[in-house]
Amino acid sequence: MIKVGPAGSSGLGNLKGVLRVAEMGLDCMEVEFTYGVRMDIKAAQAVGQLAKEKGVLLSVHAPYYINLASEEKEKLSASKKRILESCQRAHHLGACNVTFHAGFYQTRTAEETYARIKKAMVGLQKQIARRRWQVTLCPEITGKPSQFGSLEELLYLKKDIGCGITVDFSHLYARHQGTVDYERVLKKLPQKFHAHFSGIEYGPKGEKKHIRTTKKFFEPLARQLVKCNPDITIISESPKPYEDALMMKKTLQNLLQEQKRTI
Ligand SMILES: [Zn+2]
Repeated sequence: MIKVGPAGSSGLGNLKGVLRVAEMGLDCMEVEFTYGVRMDIKAAQAVGQLAKEKGVLLSVHAPYYINLASEEKEKLSASKKRILESCQRAHHLGACNVTFHAGFYQTRTAEETYARIKKAMVGLQKQIARRRWQVTLCPEITGKPSQFGSLEELLYLKKDIGCGITVDFSHLYARHQGTVDYERVLKKLPQKFHAHFSGIEYGPKGEKKHIRTTKKFFEPLARQLVKCNPDITIISESPKPYEDALMMKKTLQNLLQEQKRTI
C-alpha cells in the first residue's frame, strides 16, 4: 500500500491538519519539529488520538539542527537531545517513523563520519529501547553531497544497525543532477520504507529548495511505484503540501486503474 500525505499542517495546527488530511481523503501526515520540538506530551497524545480516530498515519520530522558526526561534545549532545525529544513526542503521537538529517562530513572522511554517526545512533537506539518508545530512527537521504546520507550510506547503516530509512526521492534527484533511475533505486530498497517527495531546484552543489510538485515531475516515480507496489508512506514536502499530496495520490490511483485495465 502506498500512503500519501502532507508535511506539516500548513499553519493550521496539528489537530486541524489531521482533520484536513482526513477530509481530503489523504492517508498520512508528518508532524514537523523542524525548527524545534515545541509540543508537550498532552498535546502529542491529543493529536495522536485524533489521528487514530480518523485513520491518519503520523510520522515525525526532527529538528534540522542535528549533526551526529560532530566532534564538539555540546553539539553532539544537543543533536541527540533533539532526536530523543522528537522520539518521545512520536511515541505519544503514535508515530513510528522519526526522520532527521544525520550529519555533515565537514573535514572528516566518509568512513570517519559513518563511524561517528553509527556510534551516536546505536546509543540513541539503546535509550529508545530502555524507554520502550515504539519508534524507528529513519535518517534521510540528503540533498547535498556535502551532507552524510547517500542512498548507499543509509542502506548500509540500515543493515548494520537495524534502523529505518527515509528515502527523499527529490533529494536523490538533486544529488545526482537530475539523473535518477527510479526502477534501479526501487530494486535496491526494502519493501517497506518511509519517503519524501516534492519538486526541487538544484545546482552543482545539490539541493537548493523544495518547489511545487508537478504531475510531470512525479509521474516517472509514480509509474515505478505502482509497478512494485511497496508498503510505504510518501510525504509531500512542497510549499503546498496538501494540494500536491492530493495530486500525487490521484496520479497513483489513475496509474493503478490503468495497470488493472491492461492486465
Ligand atoms: Zn525530505
